[in-house]
Amino acid sequence: MDTAQRSAKIKATDVSVFYGEKQALFDVSLDLGENEVTSFIGPSGCGKSTFLRCLNRMNDTIPICRVNGKIELDGGDIYDPKIDVVELRARVGMVFQKPNPFPKSIFDNVAYGPKIHGLTRNKSELEELVTSSLKKAGLWNEVKDRLNEPGTGLSGGQQQRLCIARAIATRPDVVLMDEPCSALDPIATAIVEELIDELRSNYTIIIVTHSMQQAARVSQRTAFFHLGKLIEFGRTEDIFSNPKQQQTEDYITGKIG
Ligand code: ADP
Ligand code: MG
Repeated sequence: MDTAQRSAKIKATDVSVFYGEKQALFDVSLDLGENEVTSFIGPSGCGKSTFLRCLNRMNDTIPICRVNGKIELDGGDIYDPKIDVVELRARVGMVFQKPNPFPKSIFDNVAYGPKIHGLTRNKSELEELVTSSLKKAGLWNEVKDRLNEPGTGLSGGQQQRLCIARAIATRPDVVLMDEPCSALDPIATAIVEELIDELRSNYTIIIVTHSMQQAARVSQRTAFFHLGKLIEFGRTEDIFSNPKQQQTEDYITGKIG
């Protein structure tokens, strides 16, 4: 089986999540491959965001949320009490549904992470890192003459690419994206999708999307969730053209959702 041959960047084993008494995820086990895009699809409320947030311990910020099971990043348990969560979130960056630049300049939005993590030694190194991050995010040419203007003044699509630049400025291995295009128009969406495809060569990318077309366009692997369970996981083309589970077929053909 081809899944055995690819190298797993993240390995989740029997992950269950509870919000108070309510169980939102049931025994999810999944290997996320290096340098590929994995998409999480499934009806609203099926647990996609909940599982995504397990991968950089964002659920820690929700007091009633409890995570059971094991998640390893490069073989190390990310729920080990010795783990520095702030450092983990630099290694496993996140981009949210609604672009959320800080109320700071374009430059400072990207410089913020490297500064707090002490990633650069001086001003010129920091400038270089900001520049290269904006270039990787495909935004440099549009902002190079206005780096001191507020990030919030950019268009929605530019703001989302700024948030991607901000995420990659801390030199993560993994980038999590929770419906990153849902607030964008079709042209901005196409630009971000192209960017995701380019970033794949250097990062492990996991994207939650409610759009099956988007999953088919951008991802190599797809995981289908339903009612808190991982129903099927495999190569994107197999999931969409030849699903093994009836529930997956019902979802992709529009019978459930
Ligand atoms: P999806 O991203 O697939 O739409 P979620 O992961 O947001 O689904 O939600 C999965 C389940 O967990 C839903 O029943 C939702 O109501 C519940 N849930 C999500 N976030 C919270 C929260 N902060 N507090 C309580 N319940 C939550
Ligand atoms: Mg969600």
